[in-house]
Amino acid sequence: MSQEYTIAVLPGDGIGPEVTAEAVKVLRVVETRLGLKLNLNEKPVGGAGYEATGHPLPGETLEAAKEADAVLLGAVGGPQWETIDFSLRPERALLGLRSELNLFANLRPAKVFRALTEASTLKPEVVEGLDILVVRELTGGIYFGEPRGVVTLQGGERRGTNTLVYTESEIVRIAKVAFDVALKRNKKVCSVDKANVLEATGLWREVVTDLHKKEFSGVELSHMYVDNAAMQLVRNPKQFDVIVTTNMFGDILSDEASMLTGSIGMLPSASLGGKTAMYEPIHGSAPDIAGKDMANPLATILSVGMMFKYSLDREDVNTALENVVESILEAGYRTKDIMSKGMKEVGCKEMGDLVVQALEKKL
Ligand code: NAD
Repeated sequence: MSQEYTIAVLPGDGIGPEVTAEAVKVLRVVETRLGLKLNLNEKPVGGAGYEATGHPLPGETLEAAKEADAVLLGAVGGPQWETIDFSLRPERALLGLRSELNLFANLRPAKVFRALTEASTLKPEVVEGLDILVVRELTGGIYFGEPRGVVTLQGGERRGTNTLVYTESEIVRIAKVAFDVALKRNKKVCSVDKANVLEATGLWREVVTDLHKKEFSGVELSHMYVDNAAMQLVRNPKQFDVIVTTNMFGDILSDEASMLTGSIGMLPSASLGGKTAMYEPIHGSAPDIAGKDMANPLATILSVGMMFKYSLDREDVNTALENVVESILEAGYRTKDIMSKGMKEVGCKEMGDLVVQALEKKL
């Protein structure tokens, strides 16, 4: 009997539906070639969810996500929703999905495809062959800690407070994810903190070190202060394999790492933790190019690859997709965001078609 999976497909807003449509074409090829049965359950999210039901994360969308084996998300947001109440903004749907699905680990690979080495703002020799993974804690730390807020003191001066909190169990579970993925890569983890100044990250370092000693001694562990890590990422990024860090440090370092590759339209991500994981490109809804068939669908297509690797136990599909993308880039095809002199410019749909054609030959 063929294996059957249900995937919640949430295209969202702006270029979200365009890039998701190309990723769905890819899912259908994999389905046919591997003899799987994929039930794709498409639901509105973000601005589209708000327009359909008055809420960016409609109940039926959340249910579909919870019941699925994996979630594929396009992007949410757009200028038309920037003035509505904060609690109903499209971006709230992402926070809702993360907390409802208990997605505490965000995995962001930053991989430089050979053909795009020149697209980076760094020297080619610094980024050539780069393949690193930032594992960011996603549901704790200073973004969620209490107390928080702004109060007015006696005398009228205002004071703002946010609190950096981590429990041992929160640190253990994110560190486990990092060590586990490192075992499937080059077996190196660098844990990033600010243990010299912040007690909470001193605890982070202690707990990561203990866990490593007890369960993951086959992985090489190092520690780095966040200010140094920010510097090392541009000085010599290839020294890293997996970086694991807190929510706020990970937010900043993963954006920095993504820029090493030169294009936001190329980078996938996975959010793991609970029963169902979520896969999405790192870019937003790009309202400036929406509806123009100009978006780069490769980040979303590579997110499908991560889905097969982490949720559907088919790492071979991820490898095949990465190879297909590499070969298309080697052949000179480029969407506008990665276009350079002498290359052949294609639209979103044509790029999707190229992936489909090459994948059909590969699987
Ligand atoms: P953005 O990522 O949407 O766009 C930044 C720039 O990159 C734009 O010039 C855009 O044209 C370009 N770009 C992005 N993705 C591209 C692709 N696949 N192909 C080609 N070019 C691409 O970020 P922004 O402009 O700051 O935000 C736009 C909207 O997206 C906002 O409403 C924001 O809140 C939302 N947003 C959503 C997510 C998400 O859904 N996960 C993430 C970030 C921003």
